[in-house]
Amino acid sequence: MANSISEPPVILLVLLIIAGDLAIPYTGMISEIIKTIKNWGERMEIPEKLSSELKNVSGLKIRRNEPLASHTTMEVGGPADLFLQPMKSQAMTAVIDKLNSYQFPYFLLGGGSNVIAADRGIRGAVISTRKLQQIKIQGELATVEAGVLLSDFCQELAEAGLSGLEFASGIPGTLGGAIYMNAGAYGGEIKDCLQSAEVLTAEGWSQTLTAEELELEYRSSLLQQQNLIALSASFKLRKRPSSEIKAEIQGLKARRWASQPMDQPSAGSTFKRPPGHYAGSLIEESGLKGYRIGGAMVSSKHAGFIVNTGGATARDIIELMLEIKEKVYQKFGVRLKPEPRLIGEFDKLPY
Ligand SMILES: Cc1cc2nc3c(=O)[nH]c(=O)nc-3n(C[C@H](O)[C@H](O)[C@H](O)COP(=O)(O)OP(=O)(O)OC[C@H]3O[C@@H](n4cnc5c(N)ncnc54)[C@H](O)[C@@H]3O)c2cc1C
Repeated sequence: MANSISEPPVILLVLLIIAGDLAIPYTGMISEIIKTIKNWGERMEIPEKLSSELKNVSGLKIRRNEPLASHTTMEVGGPADLFLQPMKSQAMTAVIDKLNSYQFPYFLLGGGSNVIAADRGIRGAVISTRKLQQIKIQGELATVEAGVLLSDFCQELAEAGLSGLEFASGIPGTLGGAIYMNAGAYGGEIKDCLQSAEVLTAEGWSQTLTAEELELEYRSSLLQQQNLIALSASFKLRKRPSSEIKAEIQGLKARRWASQPMDQPSAGSTFKRPPGHYAGSLIEESGLKGYRIGGAMVSSKHAGFIVNTGGATARDIIELMLEIKEKVYQKFGVRLKPEPRLIGEFDKLPY
């Protein structure tokens, strides 16, 4: 198939490789990335043998050309060539093994609440964790699979009278994504009560790592540096009356709804907190609240969020991010860094 879209400029390729916290679109080796980027704009052929081996994996849902707009909270994104949903962790392990053996690139997706997917979609496979849904509670230890939503987990913990994750109840992602990002809110972070996580290495080996070994820092973890996949995690919690936990969760929910655009599609905070500042305040003081490009707008409720007002494209969002970065840099000399992962093929990147 002929390339309908020109190859990315060399500079973009170099940027993709050198910038540590960039959204490199696939888990895999740099040679893979180069190979994939050379096929810019083309759907990836799925080897027939891989296709039939995947069909034989028990407990695996397979779709082709699945639109990512349906799987991301920003509600943008074109098709993934292959969309895989393991229903149990054994199927996840088998899928990684098969994709690795064919050097077929893949990207792991949880709740899609911290990603912006390209309009042209993703070449290769997207593996969704959303069907990994087990929760086990034993005393003050709770073990949860990667695809469980934080809100559901916190609800179960509240019922069981277990405290520690109340702060996370309103973060609209999965446990896997929360560990990958070391998600946090209202003074709490995942690292505060995570005991250990079972992970798969990029080569497909299973390991249990302690919270310390996971190197959880502000919106960063070992998972990001080493392309590890979280399968499940154990949390050390403490007893607290259910009614108190539920009341705290309700209070935090009300605070969130009062200050954040929860009723509009977004990917959460657009930029990381720069040292000594709040990104939202810098953006607001640059006069950008309500500023829009196409369907993407700086939220008029909280300038730290870009919202999809309906029909936004990923391109609108990237253009808006670039303009915000430029205006904030001109006014304050602060360089903002994107918080969401940018996945797939973009002409420009806001780094
Ligand atoms: C309205 C709104 C409010 C938000 N508020 C907050 C907040 O208060 N605090 C906060 O920290 N974040 C917040 N976020 C951002 C987001 O919800 C968190 O970063 C969340 O932890 C992402 O989880 P996810 O499952 O949606 O991950 P995804 O968006 O699906 O993925 C994010 C990254 O994690 C990786 N990943 C996902 N699952 C796994 C896994 N099992 N193993 C390895 N890697 C994995 C993906 O490959 C990707 O690189 C908010 C987002 C929205 C839309």
